[in-house]
Amino acid sequence: MRKVLGRGKYDEFMADALAGNSSPTTWEYSPAPETVPVVIPDQTQLYVGGKFVEPRSKKWFATINPATEVTLSQIADGDASDVDAAVSAARKALKPWEKLPASERAKYLYRIARRIQERARELAILESMDGGKPIKESRDVDIPLAAQHFFHHAGWCDKLRYAMPGTREPRPVGVCGQIIPWNFPLLMAAWKLAPALACGNTVVLKPAETTSLTAMRLAEILQECELPPGVVNIVTGAGATGKALVDHAGVDKIAFTGSTEVGKQIAKACAARGTRLTLELGGKSANIIFADAAIDQAIEGIVQGIWFNQGHVCCAGSRLFVEESILPEVTRKLEMRMKTLRVGDPLDKNTDIGAINSKQQLTIIERYIAAGSNEGCTVWQPSEQALPAKGYWCRPTFMTGVQPAHIVAREEIFGPVLAVMSFRTPEEAISRANNSPYGLAAGIWTEKGSKMFDVARRLQAGVVWCNTYNQFDATSPFGGFKESGFGREGGMQGLAAYLSE
Ligand code: NAP
Ligand code: MG
Repeated sequence: MRKVLGRGKYDEFMADALAGNSSPTTWEYSPAPETVPVVIPDQTQLYVGGKFVEPRSKKWFATINPATEVTLSQIADGDASDVDAAVSAARKALKPWEKLPASERAKYLYRIARRIQERARELAILESMDGGKPIKESRDVDIPLAAQHFFHHAGWCDKLRYAMPGTREPRPVGVCGQIIPWNFPLLMAAWKLAPALACGNTVVLKPAETTSLTAMRLAEILQECELPPGVVNIVTGAGATGKALVDHAGVDKIAFTGSTEVGKQIAKACAARGTRLTLELGGKSANIIFADAAIDQAIEGIVQGIWFNQGHVCCAGSRLFVEESILPEVTRKLEMRMKTLRVGDPLDKNTDIGAINSKQQLTIIERYIAAGSNEGCTVWQPSEQALPAKGYWCRPTFMTGVQPAHIVAREEIFGPVLAVMSFRTPEEAISRANNSPYGLAAGIWTEKGSKMFDVARRLQAGVVWCNTYNQFDATSPFGGFKESGFGREGGMQGLAAYLSE
């Protein structure tokens, strides 16, 4: 079995293991036969104008593995001057990129997609080490979907006129600033970059602080694919780096995915300057189970809805509405199913729930669980399984006895915590589901087609899944209403944000 190692870390780690302070298995990737060793540099750079460059501040910050608390690498802390250099590089690259025949642009996107596929194992391991998500999710969801996004958009490059009917030749918006969160690091980079590039824009991308490693691997891929310098620039850093990008006068459009709080600040800054903007913010999505649903399938849908990716999912089905007559059955089955979920090492292929992304996020989640308990909810958690001694962990959790007014029923927790409520009639289910400042997604479980369509039509949610949950595809537009943001990503609708006349 080969080791998954960070360069320069091996000796230090083995010495520690031999002294009995840590287990060498922490660094093993258990589905080992085809494992490729992943080399993690001690330090990363910024990617500006097609070159890897040091941050002008000469400052770096640590990124850790949230499952072990071991430092993986030092990430370049880009400041306003780095952002400025990146925006200039993107501006310089814009005209030639826009003028390139569309079929040539498509080839670059296609190459990037292929290269992501070829380096998929390495990317999946890196994603799980840096962010804490189970390897089966990075391997089967994040990385394949990232490649799919580039494939899908490669096909759009020479068909953009169909995305803007009435326009002979739609034009790109210009230089795009894109800011992404830590829950699906590479996938969110793909969601942002692929449509922007297909439409002929150039980009400055700001990854999230805790999960920059796959974005920098993607920069290597862009270089390997000989994407013209400056078409994509990647500036890592903290919130201030993102703010510098939003405040830069040379940026024509901002695309942001993250918290509603930061989204509101960005909306103000963009409105003041007339910068184009799309926002994909938080959610508190309703998953509705009718008594006529196939209950066992619905239980799987509840699990997929709230415990996928530790519940670090903007469209997580975090409010469960169960028809009153089946509430006891659903609660009993959900408790049983929850006990089968394995919490632990993200690199183990049998793990269902990995590590919480950061200590800060774990504190937020624990505060919400305590708040639910204080408000009188019953907290259900499997307590039999031992959790690893190091790292940030939260057992799958659901709460019953929840009232719509409770904090845990109203606010986004962004963790593996489900609020269970009930309803008597479809009318009540719809009004309770819509009683939220958010409007990102919803799920409906019923065997009746007419009920499915009627309820789906009346839910204020950008995405409605019927008899399934948390399924994503590059051909489907994704995005919210109300405080969940505006604009769509994916499908033909997603191109509109990156085109002008
Ligand atoms: P966040 O602060 O909104 O972070 C999202 C991205 O914006 C990150 O790249 C972040 O950089 C950057 N950023 C932070 N402050 C900024 C500013 N003033 N201007 C421009 N960019 C800025 O989210 P978070 O702090 O990571 O998570 C907080 C909460 O947000 C979570 O508990 C969850 O409820 C929600 N959230 C939602 C989503 C979603 O997909 N809708 C994703 C993540 C989080 P840094 O990483 O350096 O801070
Ligand atoms: Mg990390």
